[in-house]
Amino acid sequence: MKTIVIHCSATPNGRNNTAADIHQWHLSRGWDGIGYHYVITVDGKLENGRPEYWMGSHAKGHNKDSIGICMIGTDVYSLEQWHILSNLLRKLVIENTGVKIIGHNEISDKTCPGFDVQYWLKNTFNK
Ligand SMILES: [Zn+2]
Repeated sequence: MKTIVIHCSATPNGRNNTAADIHQWHLSRGWDGIGYHYVITVDGKLENGRPEYWMGSHAKGHNKDSIGICMIGTDVYSLEQWHILSNLLRKLVIENTGVKIIGHNEISDKTCPGFDVQYWLKNTFNK
């Protein structure tokens, strides 16, 4: 894996949707089910989407060699979510040497995931 792309579900902040919900939404769009590999719920659960060995469908032009993580919400996240995200990234960085972490908004004109991933990495994650 070369890149980890962080996303949001673009659902109302604080509403506790799940990976199963996203799976249904993506199926109803005619996709092969959930396009993310991991989902982090508002109440702090790490849920599995696609297995990592299955190419994701979350970032146009970047799905090959990338892992997609989805934070439930739009731009406000719970402390539990930040905690789970940090732990997951630490694990993925160890398992995937040299992997780059980016926000979806760095490779598209979307606002997703609703925060500046590079700023967060520099000022929170790496401290
Ligand atoms: Zn996104």
